[in-house]
Amino acid sequence: MAPTAKYQRARLWEDFPTGRRSIEVRPGDIVDRPKRGDLTCLHCPVLLTWVIASVNQKGTEIPAHLRLFRRAAHADNCPLNFRTLMDGLRAKKDVEIDAREKKYFLRLPGEPIEQAVQRTKDTTRKRTNAPSWASTFASAVRIAKFMHQFDDDQEFANQLRIEYRNAKGDLDVMFWRDFCFDVGNETALRRYYRRLSSASYQTQISPVAMILLAEHEPFETANGAKHRLTTYTDVKVPLRSRDDEHELVVTAYSEDRLAKIHTGDRFLVLAHGKDWLRNYDDRVEIRFDVDHAWQIAKL
Ligand SMILES: [Zn+2]
Repeated sequence: MAPTAKYQRARLWEDFPTGRRSIEVRPGDIVDRPKRGDLTCLHCPVLLTWVIASVNQKGTEIPAHLRLFRRAAHADNCPLNFRTLMDGLRAKKDVEIDAREKKYFLRLPGEPIEQAVQRTKDTTRKRTNAPSWASTFASAVRIAKFMHQFDDDQEFANQLRIEYRNAKGDLDVMFWRDFCFDVGNETALRRYYRRLSSASYQTQISPVAMILLAEHEPFETANGAKHRLTTYTDVKVPLRSRDDEHELVVTAYSEDRLAKIHTGDRFLVLAHGKDWLRNYDDRVEIRFDVDHAWQIAKL
């Protein structure tokens, strides 16, 4: 695994007759859970907690790793301090994040107003502003990779916001966690579905950048025109305003952009979702059409 802040080395402290001494450890080196206070950041005194290796619901192995305690933060001068890392990320090419009043903003390109009337039918319509969507997506991918190291960082979730202007000119501001999330994040998925199912047309609400896991190799759709990758969830939702609940699935469709995705890959898709009831298996599906190379990235 690539070295990340999350899987960093730590300092394990021990008491000796001559005083307290520390050794450098990696999360995988630790056998017994260290006492609180015995495990600190390598570069600053912040306390860390050790999370034992586990296997998640999907059968993916999560290696042992280290986390900050709730509301704890690395020292200001620590190279792993969130703000330091964030500023480093912002300084990189192709990342467009504004900083205002101690908050960070990723501004999505606005929807072209004149296309507001023809949006739902033609899902393959060309965006006139594709280059800026492409760079927005590039930014989202970098941030998602960065955030993967900090998935326990609540501070960031409250600091990075997304701004999106729909075809009617309405501005939507939301937290990063509601824009980019893992399909396994039930809370975020439910929140998104609620927004999506109350929207009267796709571009009324912001697109999402959803992290999907390929549970299978891409399938051909029934008419052979596209490939699809479906992620099944444990979430049940009503379709639109109806009462009966259905299992929710999320599917990416594409003519030619799924070729490089294989079973076990995590990938990010940026798209406007569309919800519909699959009558062949009675599931509600959030459908993402991937028409452009920049809408999809392997993580
Ligand atoms: Zn630190």
